[in-house]
Amino acid sequence: MHHVPRDTGWIEVITGCMFSGKTEELIRRLNRARYAKQSVKIFKPRIDSRYAPDSVVSHSKQELTAVAVDDANEILEQAADAEVIGIDEAQFFGAPVVAVVERLANEGKRVVVAGLDQDYLGRPFEPMPHLMAVAEYVTKNLAICMRCGNPADRSQRLVRRDATVVVGGTESYEARCRRCFDPASSAPSQKRLFDAAERDT
Ligand code: ZN
Repeated sequence: MHHVPRDTGWIEVITGCMFSGKTEELIRRLNRARYAKQSVKIFKPRIDSRYAPDSVVSHSKQELTAVAVDDANEILEQAADAEVIGIDEAQFFGAPVVAVVERLANEGKRVVVAGLDQDYLGRPFEPMPHLMAVAEYVTKNLAICMRCGNPADRSQRLVRRDATVVVGGTESYEARCRRCFDPASSAPSQKRLFDAAERDT
């Protein structure tokens, strides 16, 4: 982010809810490194196949070529020759990505990690809280609540699904502020389903 010493690595975390510009910020930082002729490599989980299979694409359609990998250890194998490493949608890699990111930073690399800090119920979304704790730099982006216009840090799922991981864009999620966020409306339990049905009639 500032001066780049040659023999020290560090971790930068870019976090926030959906539509907060995390991927745009990741792309901005990695492009600056590329302008400086540093070798840059970007990884993303294969699960995130929206838009394009081999690039990191933000909602605003900026693009960088990325390597889609099945698990965090593949990043270690493929990042050996890179000085700067970007990881997008890091929450989908699970706990093993923490050790991978720490090892890369210990080897002298700059590691920039983007991911959601809360899941669709507003719970801390591991491993992002852990990564934020071990990172040198943490940036939390806010979105704008799509209901009321207040600063928003929660991702409201608009469809009812049991899974924590539902990859989607504007059609399945909204950015919401803490006042407008309503996790019960997307929670999976039968009781809540029943309550919602009653409320709606
Ligand atoms: Zn709101």
